[in-house]
Amino acid sequence: MKVKELVCIGCPLGCNLKVEISEEGSMEVTGNTCPRGADYAEKELTDPRRIVTSSVRVSGGHLPCVSVKTETDIPKDKIFDCVKALKNVELLAPVKIGQIVAENVAGTGAAVIATKDIYVQ
Ligand code: SF4
Repeated sequence: MKVKELVCIGCPLGCNLKVEISEEGSMEVTGNTCPRGADYAEKELTDPRRIVTSSVRVSGGHLPCVSVKTETDIPKDKIFDCVKALKNVELLAPVKIGQIVAENVAGTGAAVIATKDIYVQ
């Protein structure tokens, strides 16, 4: 049996999780205050994923860049590729909150959306 320790990122409480993994691969999670902690632990140890936040350049706007995030979580090992791909994106103002700024980022199938309005300067 293997034991892993994690901190749940599901909410600010940050519960300390202990995961016991049997030889057959079944998991028992303890330390979670709510069911989301067990879901997080199992996912983190089998298919870790994250929402990625970053920024993208904008020309002609009241600010030179806009904050963005992936619309859904993406595999953790694709985060670097996602951020790298966004370095090559440049938008033209105006940009609307929720606007798709990149499709299928880094081949993950996830879109990247703006999280702020940028007005024409
Ligand atoms: S287990 Fe539940 S209460 Fe604890 S950090 Fe995760 S989401 Fe929050």
